[in-house]
Amino acid sequence: MTDQHDVIVLGVGGMGSATVAHLADRGVDVLGLERYDVPHGYGSSHGITRIFRLAYYEHPDYVPLLRRAATLWEDLESDHDRQLLYRTGSIDAGPTDDPLVEGSKRSCEEHDLEYERLSSDELTDRYPGYRLPDDYTAIYQPDGGFLVPEDCIVAHVDRAHRAGATIRARERVVNWQPTDDGGVRVETDHAAYEADSLVITAGAWAAQFVDALDGIAVPERQVLAWLQPDEPEYFAPERFPVWNLRVPEGRFYGFPVHGVPGFKLGRYHHREETVDPDAFEREPTQADERLLREFAEQYFPAGAGPTMRMETCLFTNTPDDHFVLDTLPEHPQVAVGAGFSGHGFKFASVVGEILADLALDGETDHGIEMFSLDRF
Ligand SMILES: Cc1cc2nc3c(=O)[nH]c(=O)nc-3n(C[C@H](O)[C@H](O)[C@H](O)COP(=O)(O)OP(=O)(O)OC[C@H]3O[C@@H](n4cnc5c(N)ncnc54)[C@H](O)[C@@H]3O)c2cc1C
Repeated sequence: MTDQHDVIVLGVGGMGSATVAHLADRGVDVLGLERYDVPHGYGSSHGITRIFRLAYYEHPDYVPLLRRAATLWEDLESDHDRQLLYRTGSIDAGPTDDPLVEGSKRSCEEHDLEYERLSSDELTDRYPGYRLPDDYTAIYQPDGGFLVPEDCIVAHVDRAHRAGATIRARERVVNWQPTDDGGVRVETDHAAYEADSLVITAGAWAAQFVDALDGIAVPERQVLAWLQPDEPEYFAPERFPVWNLRVPEGRFYGFPVHGVPGFKLGRYHHREETVDPDAFEREPTQADERLLREFAEQYFPAGAGPTMRMETCLFTNTPDDHFVLDTLPEHPQVAVGAGFSGHGFKFASVVGEILADLALDGETDHGIEMFSLDRF
């Protein structure tokens, strides 16, 4: 006999763990299937810290979702034994008229978020880790900070377990198909399961399960570095908000010291390497390290001590860098959360709520029009 559930969630990483938790909390019989471990370091949701910020330069329409995400993270944290969200404030900086600075300010103004505009000198006076060109501007927003992604996944899975969900790790989904009664059948390398609906949260592997995502949700290799600061007090969480920075070398981001004895940084689209998530260079190279170190030496010289750690990770980019949150037009019993384009983790708590809505009702009250599949 085939194992039968209300909903199956394919992939229990950042988004899938939140989805199983929301579904189980609503009394739904949910099965989560994960090919690796819970949590693991082969996808997109590892590396100890993820930026949470509200001054969203990408688009002001993200701000209501971010407010809801923050409420849900705090709620999750309240019944977990570890802190999940650390508030350090956030900095978005670059040349004064750069879209990153302007967009960040616009989101604050449209949504009444508290913020301060700092000149380069004011920024360095307050946060002495920075050495930016004189004509740069920074937007400081006090509610930003960072999440601990591995702990967030564990907290969501704990909550799902307490509400009766079944989650199976080390069980790889091989394919899914619609059934004659409007449900789905999912085959793994261990067994077959049926359900009324399916949520696909397979991260960098999403296009393997949704034809419409082919060429739309594209995996890209990323690299993170942690460098030992020469001046540790400049890079402590109380003294060093999370940041995004546009410079001629690209758009970079970083964190205060947390969990590893080094300050962490990365470059968006690192070396622009589109990859097969099952076959790429997982080990960071000296060229990867050089790119990040040269940036740190120039803009955060007091932070550019010996390397403590490096890791690779995967972005899954869409053509417009906005997410895909939708049901499949030809199979409305299948919901998809994909293409989080390097900025999705902070939303995982609210994405879980949205995908639970889509799986159960086919619609949600959240504003997700800009994430529809048919925009491509
Ligand atoms: C280096 C880096 C830095 C980032 N920084 C930030 C940041 O600061 N702030 C922020 O908000 N976002 C950030 N992001 C983006 C964010 O981390 C991602 O958008 C988010 O983690 C995506 O979650 P996901 O659930 O889609 O993917 P994942 O967490 O990878 O989950 C997908 C899951 O599906 C599973 N899966 C795939 N195929 C199968 C199968 N066949 N069977 C069963 N399971 C399967 C995978 O094993 C995986 O566990 C960053 C990403 C990277 C890589």
